[in-house]
Amino acid sequence: MPKPHKPKFSLAPVEFRERSLAGRGVFAKRRFQPGDVITPYAPKQRRLDIDDPEATLAAESKLTLVSEKWTVIVPDTSVPGGWLCNHSCNPNAAIFSDREGRIQCRRPISPGEEVTIFYGWVTRNEPERDPCRCGSRHCRGFINFDLSDQDAALVDGDSSASAAVRARLEEYVAFLHSIGQEQVLDTIQRTLVTLRAKQR
Ligand SMILES: [Zn+2]
Repeated sequence: MPKPHKPKFSLAPVEFRERSLAGRGVFAKRRFQPGDVITPYAPKQRRLDIDDPEATLAAESKLTLVSEKWTVIVPDTSVPGGWLCNHSCNPNAAIFSDREGRIQCRRPISPGEEVTIFYGWVTRNEPERDPCRCGSRHCRGFINFDLSDQDAALVDGDSSASAAVRARLEEYVAFLHSIGQEQVLDTIQRTLVTLRAKQR
């Protein structure tokens, strides 16, 4: 009996694998140089207003992107795209959320190499939500960077506990700079503001 045909997504210049070590991934089929656009984020997508309850619901998939003018990009996962990229603590590509969203090369990528991005997830009171297995030499252990109610309460204080919170933030900020992911700083700022607002 012939083996059942297993569909394998292929759309040059990358190969989308639904199964890899990390469960899924995007692999280069050719060389990419910094600045090259590697793949659209979601060739098929819906765009919703950020206040749309459906956008909030879709965010649970962790695949939505906030684009310009508070539009939320919701990938149609029946079509492969950059949304299949795995996270790395030392990514070779970056995600851009303007217009349709895209994955762009940030350091040279060879054929066969996995294309990785930095998710930049900032969580609230869930420090160990997303363990990271990216395998990079300086893996941080977790994909998410967590801020707690206590962090928000302490961040401006004079105690040594406050200084420790600030030191942790400064270390993370330096790390973000080192991998060119400064856009996450906005998310951190907004998360701190949200946590503080809750305390009043
Ligand atoms: Zn990692």
